[in-house]
Amino acid sequence: MASDPVSVPKRAEPSEFDKHIVKVLRHRVGKDERAAKQHDWYTASIYALRDEIIDRWISSTRRTYDEGGKRVYYLSMEFLIGRLLRDALSNIGMTSQMEKALAAHGLELSALEELEPDAALGNGGLGRLAACFMESLATLDIPAYGYGIRYVNGMFRQRIDDGWQVELPETWLAHGNPWEFERLESSYRIGFGGEVEAEGDGVIWSPAEEIEATAVDTPVVGWRGKRVNTLRLWTASALDPIRLDAFNAGDHIGALEEQVRADSLVRVLYPADSSPSGQELRLRQEYFFTSASIQDIVRRHVQYEGDIRTLPEKAAIQLNDTHPSVAVAELMRIFVDIHGLEFNEAWEICKQTISYTNHTLLPEALETWPLPLFERLLPRHMQIIYAINSRILREARKAGCSDEQIAAISLIDEGGERRVRMANLAFVGAHSVNGVAALHTELMKETVFADLHSLYPTRINNKTNGVTPRRWLQQCNPGLTKVIRDAIGDDFLDDAAKLSDLNALANDSTLGERIHEVKRSNKLALADYIKKTMGIRLDPDALFDVQIKRIHEYKRQLLNLIETVALYDQIRSHPERDWVPRVKIFGGKAASSYHNAKLVIKLANDIARRVNSDPSVGGLLKVVFVPNYNVSYAERIIPAADLSEQISTAGMEASGTGNMKFALNGALTIGTLDGANVEIKDHVGDENIVIFGLTAEEVAQKRANGYNPREIIEGSRELAQALSAIASGVFSPDDRNRYAGLIGGIYDHDWFMCAADFDGYAAAQRSVDARWEDKAGWRKAAIHNIANVGWFSSDRTISEYARDIWKVL
Ligand SMILES: *Cc1c(COP(=O)(O)O)cnc(C)c1O
Repeated sequence: MASDPVSVPKRAEPSEFDKHIVKVLRHRVGKDERAAKQHDWYTASIYALRDEIIDRWISSTRRTYDEGGKRVYYLSMEFLIGRLLRDALSNIGMTSQMEKALAAHGLELSALEELEPDAALGNGGLGRLAACFMESLATLDIPAYGYGIRYVNGMFRQRIDDGWQVELPETWLAHGNPWEFERLESSYRIGFGGEVEAEGDGVIWSPAEEIEATAVDTPVVGWRGKRVNTLRLWTASALDPIRLDAFNAGDHIGALEEQVRADSLVRVLYPADSSPSGQELRLRQEYFFTSASIQDIVRRHVQYEGDIRTLPEKAAIQLNDTHPSVAVAELMRIFVDIHGLEFNEAWEICKQTISYTNHTLLPEALETWPLPLFERLLPRHMQIIYAINSRILREARKAGCSDEQIAAISLIDEGGERRVRMANLAFVGAHSVNGVAALHTELMKETVFADLHSLYPTRINNKTNGVTPRRWLQQCNPGLTKVIRDAIGDDFLDDAAKLSDLNALANDSTLGERIHEVKRSNKLALADYIKKTMGIRLDPDALFDVQIKRIHEYKRQLLNLIETVALYDQIRSHPERDWVPRVKIFGGKAASSYHNAKLVIKLANDIARRVNSDPSVGGLLKVVFVPNYNVSYAERIIPAADLSEQISTAGMEASGTGNMKFALNGALTIGTLDGANVEIKDHVGDENIVIFGLTAEEVAQKRANGYNPREIIEGSRELAQALSAIASGVFSPDDRNRYAGLIGGIYDHDWFMCAADFDGYAAAQRSVDARWEDKAGWRKAAIHNIANVGWFSSDRTISEYARDIWKVL
């Protein structure tokens, strides 16, 4: 209908922008507006908008050169961007112009937006953080480049077959990518393997293999369009794309091998979210993008400044987790081997330039590489790491460290198979090491980095994560944005802290009613979408209780599912009670090799099937596992949530950012004192959040002093019943033993303390029911949540990085 040319209404005066779109449609898409399909219009719209963006991009870049200011370089293996059309339009202030121009051709912007594939170049929170940071950097008018990998397939697409996760390749580039610009002139050689030989004073590294990295740039538009920064992603190609002699001799496949090898580097994002993949290919990917980025940064500096020694005055390099931490060795290599600096001087310059963000305390997620692998792939870097290590260990000895402390500080793990510790490398090579929430930063000092912290006591600092309120409020929830503007004016659009003006209106029942109406219509829209895509009917007046995030044992989707089963039992045993109707929504991907996480997905689906088809719970309980949770799905679900599940085992979630998005959209949090939940509680107030469970300290104590989950289970009838129902196959009649092992683990060791926290969690859930019955109280609490989480804007986070770490503000 929309693309039917006959339905195009006659217009009075086409706007300049409309004329531009039509021109673009003809000249760049090559289509007559009468014959154009939706997708052609979609492409033309982006190209036309892009023209507007490019002008600002060029002027931002010129301004940076003219001002000679310092640039921020954000190196990240992941950028979980999602869609860009709505974001760019909204930030540049052209949404209604675009809507009008498209309406003149009988098209709806919202329909075209749905054609854009998600750029899913990340696993979860860490990658999404990088995307929020890029937007905030542009918003705060800070010259910045994001550096990463242009994965052809990125994160896998998740399908649910008979309740099981199936991983499919994401083909987001299948129809081309109108946002990107290939920069053939910005390409660098990346070496692997080979020999290192002494030559005069220095050394020469002759790699056995070389791959070419080429830049592909995407513009990042800040709020109000003042600055447009660059996200520079690297793609790989062989120096010799085809060996013609081999091809002509009949070896058609072998002749292309080099190109295939290069291609495989940028194919997929390892779904190794919080556990090491241990794959050589991953180390190659890390070095590939890090080396290209560092070469690009140094090239730019030398080109404009001449002297490599002034690099820290003009460049701040932030390492997002340890994935790019080989940057320390690469920068040293370039300083020493290529620019001829003395090692000591190079080391000081390196540290002044680099800073590192830690994202996890999970020991299994701290990257280490087998020394023989590292040495084979990067022989020169291995030498440099040894040289750095002997320097650091000398400093440690001088400071009076014990042998035990020295073993912990060393860049090489000598226990068992020798391994290179990437977190230690990043720590010693950086002038700043930050955690991502207050609790996490304190735990960093006490656990993983205890000894490095005692040697360098001023290096660790905290920068609590944030999310961009443009994407996570204005764009995903225009209804709520309008209500807030009507209530307190527009100041909060430029400064999220101003949302606090809502506090004074928390008792205003008209405002409470309007926010409730918006929430209801968002729930209705989500219910429609779920009906259409999954065939499940949801009651928009039920409490929407949501847990969407990567599936991981520490995030405890299993605790939520056990409680769901307990609630199901309770509703059936006490049908006479006034149960609050609930919809439990789950979503998230499991790493493909993570057996228990995949089993949790199956369990959620098994429970959903049973509960949703049981007439005895009527409309009181529904369970949904939404497939392929990604940024766009998050943008649909979060504005429709009443309750945000943030229930990780205390001490294990570094920060969380989903928690912030939900509160900003007026959901109440049920959660543990973990990650940024602690600070969310401090901001929204104890009475506007539901906290339960063990503290991080209590978890550590229990683990140290011997914890007996069996005893706890036997003391809790509700828990024991729910566990035995799951374990005995009530939800898996086709395979009664399916969950015996999963539940057995809880009886056996319960590392994640589901049993210890169950009673507190169930009681907290019933207190949520009671709050829900108090409509006025709930609405007031929702307002206080929206009003008090402006502090969790990534603008605030980035201002702190800029002031304390990068020294650019
Ligand atoms: C925000 C976000 C995350 C992070 O969620 P947490 O609950 O903090 O783990 C993961 N995936 C997507 C798509 C997100 O938007």
